[in-house]
Amino acid sequence: MPVPQNAKKEVVLDDKVVIYDVSALLPGHGTKTYKTRATDSISYIIVHKSGADGASGYKGAQGCANYVVNHRNWAGMPYTFWLSQNPDMDEHDRLVIYRCQPDDIVSWHTGNGMNGVGTAVGVQGDYDGDWDGLIGKTPSDAQWTMIEALVPWLAQTHQIDLAGASDADEYYLTGHWEHGKSVCPGDALRGWVMKTRGQEPQNVEPSTSQEVLPLTFNTRDRQKALKLLGFYAGNVDGIWGPISRAALEELQKKFNLKVDGWFGKHSAKAMLHALRDKGLADKDAFALH
Ligand SMILES: [Zn+2]
Repeated sequence: MPVPQNAKKEVVLDDKVVIYDVSALLPGHGTKTYKTRATDSISYIIVHKSGADGASGYKGAQGCANYVVNHRNWAGMPYTFWLSQNPDMDEHDRLVIYRCQPDDIVSWHTGNGMNGVGTAVGVQGDYDGDWDGLIGKTPSDAQWTMIEALVPWLAQTHQIDLAGASDADEYYLTGHWEHGKSVCPGDALRGWVMKTRGQEPQNVEPSTSQEVLPLTFNTRDRQKALKLLGFYAGNVDGIWGPISRAALEELQKKFNLKVDGWFGKHSAKAMLHALRDKGLADKDAFALH
């Protein structure tokens, strides 16, 4: 498929990848719009899988935008960039990455307060994501080439340190798993993210740990944990509203953490300790409740 006629060429990366801006061409919601931000607030690169395979090239990006608009009632394309499994090629045989949102748009892709500070790399595909260390379906060769060109360019553009941050445990190149969606972007991409940060990509080794890892909890699991620990009396429904947030703040208070309702590594660590104390940190024990 050719690049759409009104797509705007943004930049050529490594001679083999090119970004075209299609943000003005993709379908959007009739009435809803996303919030905007100052582009210098972008300090995280967040890598996703799309969770569905879909069509090649631009058609796949259109399909994703249509899906979120029509079935999830979102304002428009969730990802800032779209990396097709079978990308379109330009006239110089370069792989085409589509920019689907301008940098000043706060699209919905991650949650946990990360949308305002993150740029979203959407890797099209329903990639394996069980965190079982067994790699199933992985990104295509074209997607690996594109992500390896895109991420360093983003790091340079937004002055993001791929290797880490002020604090040894904090990273600015992340996957969705670190912000509440345990299965995104799948084992292979998680391994790549960790390797790119200079970490051992532990996830590609089979994991034998039976301990729950609260940092990878989805909202339902967090609610469940807060309930088991006596901080939450609401429903375990996966909807992170003010009651859930207040419960998390109670946990933060109890453990002398900064009370900000933010589920970061310190809250996760405190949650793990509290679950251990109650004999609930084992996956089976946690699942039984
Ligand atoms: Zn995701």
